[in-house]
Amino acid sequence: MTNWCENCDRPEEGDVCEVCGAEIIEPVHEPIPWRWRFFIVASVIYLVWRIYQIISWIAH
Ligand SMILES: [Zn+2]
Repeated sequence: MTNWCENCDRPEEGDVCEVCGAEIIEPVHEPIPWRWRFFIVASVIYLVWRIYQIISWIAH
């Protein structure tokens, strides 16, 4: 995994930047916010419901 120096805006393999000497902070991988999960789940449920309506409308 490649670290990133925000001071120099360049990738750095080690823990300390070779250019500016600053310590490299590992990038934080934040989990998906629950609002987005709720939005995605709601969108999927809505789409399934619409598809179900269209199929039942065609069938009848
Ligand atoms: Zn740097």
